[in-house]
Amino acid sequence: MEQLNKDDLWRSVLGNIELSISKANFSTWFKNTKILSIEDGHVVVGVPNGFAKEWLENKYQSYILQAIHKEAPDINTMSCAVYNPQQEGGSEKSAAQEAHATQQNVSQQTKKTKATSSRVVDAEKKHSQKSVQHTMAQTYVNLNMRYTFDNFVVGEHNELAKAACHAVCEDLGRIYNPLFIYGKVGLGKTHLLQSIGNQVRSDDGEKRIVYTTSEKFTTELVNAIKNNKADRFKEDYQKVDLLIIDDVQFLAGKEKTQQEFFHIFNALYNLNKQIVISSDRPPKSISTLEERLRSRFEGGMIVDVSQPDLETRIAILRTKALEKGFYLSDDVLRFMAENIKNNVRELEGALNRVIAICDLRKKEPTQQLVEQALGEIIESSRKKCVQNKNVIDVISEFYEIDKKELISKGRKKEVVHPRQIAMYLLRKELNMSYPGIGKYFSGRDHTTALHAYEKIKKEIEENERLREEIGFLKEKLYSV
Ligand code: ADP
Ligand code: MG
Repeated sequence: MEQLNKDDLWRSVLGNIELSISKANFSTWFKNTKILSIEDGHVVVGVPNGFAKEWLENKYQSYILQAIHKEAPDINTMSCAVYNPQQEGGSEKSAAQEAHATQQNVSQQTKKTKATSSRVVDAEKKHSQKSVQHTMAQTYVNLNMRYTFDNFVVGEHNELAKAACHAVCEDLGRIYNPLFIYGKVGLGKTHLLQSIGNQVRSDDGEKRIVYTTSEKFTTELVNAIKNNKADRFKEDYQKVDLLIIDDVQFLAGKEKTQQEFFHIFNALYNLNKQIVISSDRPPKSISTLEERLRSRFEGGMIVDVSQPDLETRIAILRTKALEKGFYLSDDVLRFMAENIKNNVRELEGALNRVIAICDLRKKEPTQQLVEQALGEIIESSRKKCVQNKNVIDVISEFYEIDKKELISKGRKKEVVHPRQIAMYLLRKELNMSYPGIGKYFSGRDHTTALHAYEKIKKEIEENERLREEIGFLKEKLYSV
């Protein structure tokens, strides 16, 4: 291929990749890269250092191949070679030589990965940018390459789930079927489900894999019925080797969809095809789930993912920062992980915010800047951690009042004031509604809650000791 064509091709590839990954990642890993050679369907990409070589080959290989494939369908494999972008002209030869050497080096390795890579490329001819959105007749549906086992951090909170997912990939349909993963939002269920899909896809390009959410499944089913294609819909699903259904809790109450799903489930199950399901709660807690579906779910392996502990949160943040090509000191990582505890999605959101602010202001992520940048997020994250129960616990412990007494309608003098403080905190810290607070305290009227809130608010302004006392109570509240 002519020099011009190589450059044009690479420019178009970069244009594509730029759309599918973050700006920070793009400039970190793709700056000063170019195509060095193309031979026998193999492309060698020149990169400025060994680090970039590693990342491009390991993390971005499939992005690159997909993008290349759009322009040059006969290129199936790639490798990278380090070259010096400063030395134009004369360096071309040595770079090419190096590329050749590297190509020979990698040829062993390529042999191993070639089959996979070309299969991936074959299957992805009509690939959209980032996730594979195909019709059923094609091999993979809705897989997002962003989610892999490699970039999934394992801690005590998810190790069982991760192990089960791995086992499933080892021997589809035979070890744990169905595999049911549950846990609250933002704790990595979708990441695990997608990783299974991506793993199976890279192990065996022939397998038919479908990832869908129960909502999407329902919409498709309804459309199929409307267009008299329900049978086709079922047939298509029954051809799948691995069916992944995310957020199955949304099937609750949809009887018709559940019935159809049950038939598809049974057909696949009887053929030893693998089914993986996620939900925000265990099967027995999904209300209005058809009994036979529930017992099917319970017949397989059920694992949960819970909240990560501090050390795991730090490890996750570190991984995510590295993925984005962004450096954070240990102190800053710890600070963020200590303050954002609810779930991984929030941690990621916080990291993105820090990166954006540092980019915008062209500043380093010092602890001070991070504290400032995350003020609001930390505040709301803290609030989410606290529940009514915590407020009652803290007040009853501090004022040495029985919890039942605190909530009751009793008017003992020593209870009235702490109760008002509890109402104040529920309103101020948890944004609870006045009627909600009234109801919580043995069905009082909302005006009682409103009155308590206004009264304590005023007292705080006037009374320094009370101000301190409430400051102390808040601290206790947020340290539970
Ligand atoms: P869920 O489906 O449980 O609501 P997701 O899988 O969408 O959660 O996770 C939210 C975000 O957090 C995703 O970007 C995901 O990559 C990330 N994430 C969650 N757990 C981990 C983990 N253990 N390691 C790395 N990233 C994680
Ligand atoms: Mg999810």
